[in-house]
Amino acid sequence: MDTKLIRGKTLYDGEKYLKGEPATLMIAGDRILSVGRDAEDAADQAGSVIDCSGQTLMPGMIDCHNHLSLDPGLPDYLLRMNDPLPELTLRAVHTMEMDLMSGVTTSRCLGDKAFLDVHCQKAQDEVRILGPRLKVATRGIRALHGHGFVGYAFGGPENIRTVVRENLLAGADLIKIYLTGSLRGPKGLPCTFSEAEVQMLVAESHRAGVTVATHCIGGPGLDLALKCGIDVIEHGYFMTPEQIDAMADGPAWLVLTPSIFFTEDRLETLHGNLKELHLKQRGEVGSVMAQVVNSDIRWAIGTDGMHGQLAIEVAHVVGFGANPANAIAGVTTRAAELCGLAQDIGRLEKGKLADIIGVQGDPLQNVSALRQVKTVIQGGRVVKADPSRS
Ligand SMILES: [Zn+2]
Repeated sequence: MDTKLIRGKTLYDGEKYLKGEPATLMIAGDRILSVGRDAEDAADQAGSVIDCSGQTLMPGMIDCHNHLSLDPGLPDYLLRMNDPLPELTLRAVHTMEMDLMSGVTTSRCLGDKAFLDVHCQKAQDEVRILGPRLKVATRGIRALHGHGFVGYAFGGPENIRTVVRENLLAGADLIKIYLTGSLRGPKGLPCTFSEAEVQMLVAESHRAGVTVATHCIGGPGLDLALKCGIDVIEHGYFMTPEQIDAMADGPAWLVLTPSIFFTEDRLETLHGNLKELHLKQRGEVGSVMAQVVNSDIRWAIGTDGMHGQLAIEVAHVVGFGANPANAIAGVTTRAAELCGLAQDIGRLEKGKLADIIGVQGDPLQNVSALRQVKTVIQGGRVVKADPSRS
């Protein structure tokens, strides 16, 4: 079997630094065979050696909220979701490579057009394109009058039952529903689906063994989501203290996606007056996020399509008051748990998939080290290496 020895300066396994042992990993095929002293002792059996000296070795990052064909690098990027499908697909192939090269080895995709995510998932799996391994939601389900640029409109319990089953037939790993808009509006934070519709969606999904995620920023939609047993709340920008307490006591997860409120480049490419509206509500969202990150809510982090920039989302979360280890867990160990993949990824230990990145610097001292990704190994394949060492 193809074995590789990887030597770094330090090794962060997703929870702690390896102390008193060499920062070395041995991988065999797509899995980690041994770590630390055990790996170094077997060095002479390695088929090849990957020199990551000067780098911190850590688990490949997991983007918990992505859209392959949404690209905030484009002007009026939300409206560009109406581009022809071949264009969206080409864009997805491009953004997947950007994400992988930035150290994201797994991505949870929360809606794309016409099942293109299923095709990208298959192509990645067969190594026909470069990108993170994907978990896909296929078509996002939105109300006729509701928000959701990457979704499609459906309504009525029976119709919802059908669309969930169609998504599952196409290969959905999870089901996504939009319950609210994306900003506080003149009418507050209205919910766009009825309880009967949400109950139907959750029942059909759970019966098939898949989880349900909802785009939900707060208001009655959040109460309804928790009441109906939705598994993951996406965004949660306007949660009340009561809702934070309810989530902290319950089983639902939260995915934090700060960039649309806090990353200047992204605000620039919104259409109409959306930039101004987001800026107006930034303070309120910041104070909610500050409460969330140190609550007992189980949270992880996603880019919402900010390709190649998961590290910046992590930095925002640290800015809200999370300690760096907690924020990094939101893209490694805890992210793997959220995705239902903790048995395979999120941690550097014997038996796990060899998804390993090497970063320059100490991410626990300064999370901006996550922007300095020099090495990316995915499932044992070296996809990015420091050119000065080869
Ligand atoms: Zn999204």
